[in-house]
Amino acid sequence: MVSITIRSLCKRFGDTVALDSVSLKIEPGEMFFLLGPSGCGKTTLLRHIAGFYTPDSGKILFDARDVTDVPAHKRNTAMMFQSYALWPHMSVAQNVAFGLEQRKADPENIERRVGEALDMVRLRKQANRKINQLSGGQQQRIALARALVVRPDCLLLDEPLSNLDARLRLDMRAEIRRICKEFGLTTVYVTHDQKEALAIADRLAILDEGKVVQAGTPRQIYRFPFSTRVASFLGEINMIRGVIENAVDNGKLWSVKTDFGQFWGRLTEKNWNPAAGERVTVCIRPEAMRLADYAGARNTISGKLSNYMYLGDTAQTVLTGAEGQEIRVTELHPTGRTPDEATELFASSSPEDTLILRR
Ligand code: ATP
Repeated sequence: MVSITIRSLCKRFGDTVALDSVSLKIEPGEMFFLLGPSGCGKTTLLRHIAGFYTPDSGKILFDARDVTDVPAHKRNTAMMFQSYALWPHMSVAQNVAFGLEQRKADPENIERRVGEALDMVRLRKQANRKINQLSGGQQQRIALARALVVRPDCLLLDEPLSNLDARLRLDMRAEIRRICKEFGLTTVYVTHDQKEALAIADRLAILDEGKVVQAGTPRQIYRFPFSTRVASFLGEINMIRGVIENAVDNGKLWSVKTDFGQFWGRLTEKNWNPAAGERVTVCIRPEAMRLADYAGARNTISGKLSNYMYLGDTAQTVLTGAEGQEIRVTELHPTGRTPDEATELFASSSPEDTLILRR
């Protein structure tokens, strides 16, 4: 198991700054995700770790070894691409064996290791089939077997599940995590699918315009985003503009004045001591809001019901406030009847679930 340390990595393509002083430490055996809007630098960072790109400045270390200038084939990483890049005219076993043949492993060894890799992804029986005789999910597993057969120190995955249907994605993401953990692989995983990241990442980093804007566990980032951009990138969130009044509850919470009334909430950004009158955004996840028949003293939104969608396990309610702002409320296990259109409703949040971020 290796750790990956990235120190102040910078990369430009012409005028585009793809990586802007990126620093990260990925622990041995960790499953680490890179997330962020399109073009934020995820694939560029992954390709630097693989050794396909040389940075303009900065360093990459595998444990204490500086690999910044080590070519890709000497890093002992394996990369799996979105397209799988399998050879359709070759059999499953030949595809998996390819990396070992290139490394000039002896034939007996190759046969044994190909068998083991196919066992890992539960496809030994299909060893002699051609690639085009396999389903999308099976092809994906073959691509994974091909990456694993060379026993890499780290596995680099670029949107590995994007060609699969929703059901298969769910199965495969659990399978990938099982294999990576079983073999102690340090894994760096790029995806657009936030649910995939939240479900199986040990930690993740959010990139924006080539910078790491926040790194942490899925829970830390979802519950305590440092900025409105991170908050809105990961999941849905209601945002209400307001101004700081003062600290309350011995400084644990802060009071904010908004068009909906007063909110108490907490700051997530470290070492930030906002001044009275400072313009802020109050952020509340839809599932952290509760519908109520009456207004509380604070942390309450009132509005007219403008949309209601019953989805079985949840119901999504949209309230429109006097200023026209829409507030979303997710109700879990909805058992009541569908409210009438234009009914005046209230929704409230606890101060612990109410975040105050810089505007
Ligand atoms: P996506 O989610 O859309 O795949 P990404 O976060 O992986 O995006 P990158 O592919 O890393 O983003 O690209 C980061 C920036 O660098 C983008 O603005 C992209 O256009 C640019 N870029 C990436 N590779 C090259 C290249 N080889 N030449 C020129 N510009 C590039």
